[in-house]
Amino acid sequence: MRNKLDWRQAVVSHAEEIADEVKLLEFAVEGNVPRFDPGSHSNFRVSLGSGEAIRTYSCLPAAPGHIRIAVKRHDNSRGGSRFMWTLEPGKTIALTIPENRFELAWRAPYYLLMAGGIGITPIYGMALALQQRGIPFRLVYGGRTRGVMAFADGLESQLPDQVVVHAGDAGQRIDVAAEIANLPADGELYVCGPIAMLNSVKAAWQAAGRPMGRLRYEVFGDSGLYAEAPFQVAVQGLDRTVDVRADQTLLEALLGAGVEMIYDCQRGECGLCAVEVISHDAPIDHRDVFFSEAEKADGKRMCACVSRLADGQAVIDVGYRA
Ligand SMILES: Cc1cc2nc3c(=O)[nH]c(=O)nc-3n(C[C@H](O)[C@H](O)[C@H](O)COP(=O)(O)OP(=O)(O)OC[C@H]3O[C@@H](n4cnc5c(N)ncnc54)[C@H](O)[C@@H]3O)c2cc1C
Repeated sequence: MRNKLDWRQAVVSHAEEIADEVKLLEFAVEGNVPRFDPGSHSNFRVSLGSGEAIRTYSCLPAAPGHIRIAVKRHDNSRGGSRFMWTLEPGKTIALTIPENRFELAWRAPYYLLMAGGIGITPIYGMALALQQRGIPFRLVYGGRTRGVMAFADGLESQLPDQVVVHAGDAGQRIDVAAEIANLPADGELYVCGPIAMLNSVKAAWQAAGRPMGRLRYEVFGDSGLYAEAPFQVAVQGLDRTVDVRADQTLLEALLGAGVEMIYDCQRGECGLCAVEVISHDAPIDHRDVFFSEAEKADGKRMCACVSRLADGQAVIDVGYRA
């Protein structure tokens, strides 16, 4: 059950492809848009073949009364990003006023910002804000190819002393351990990127003996360690077996089958939708940032909103008691 969100109508005022697979969209929003900080996101009501859904996008710096986002197109997906790509100037959409769960703390004397692929969207605004306030930082930005890396050229030319771009097609990779080693002891790290990148950053941060309170991160819940495949869950106590399609989350499948679930963020952060896993015959693809690495390795619980089985079957307990 979600918190109350402030939904508004908005009109697309600008649409532009700014990188391979990345489209910039700007919206003129009805009514007053409160000032928002870097790291904020808005929700958008999108149409999928199967009906309406909500997709979340980080808000880039924008003129007053406007919201700007950059959307990566996922061709093999349920279709939220493809719908966003159909938006052209003049089209209308419902969106929410920005909220922030990935705020810059402004307390550190030095910041390391790290972005992987489309994870640049919240980091971009942070870099500009730090630059504006004259706070020292370094931005390390990695991507599969230079072509898919939105804002790479602009950032490099605007912030040549702070920005380093590592493009995979040029044989470059972020050396996470070295970046952390060069960060002053009282510095903070903000990272946004695919779950595999976040896992390696967390491991390196811990290995360097850094306090977890100085590492802040956001993942988009749109990447895992295995390709999506159908799987099945038997819900203990309900005498019910639920099929989860490849293009569905476990939470969606359970709700669709009439199983009562408590949930909120739907991006693997709050843990409200976590279910107990009694047994499973295939690996769990943990895509959340709620459970610790030890809990994930334990395999006893998983977040139904983003995590899934690689395939096969599991017996789960959703906590329902008649
Ligand atoms: C806080 C936040 C900020 C975000 N900011 C941005 C942003 O700035 N820019 C941006 O482009 N995106 C952003 N996202 C991601 C965005 O909300 C969508 O998840 C993304 O656009 C994909 O939606 P989709 O419907 O196209 O793909 P989905 O169907 O959600 O699939 C996403 C990816 O997962 C795979 N997938 C397919 N089916 C499933 C399934 N059943 N379960 C899980 N994965 C599946 C697909 O192969 C695809 O690559 C953000 C997400 C969050 C939570």
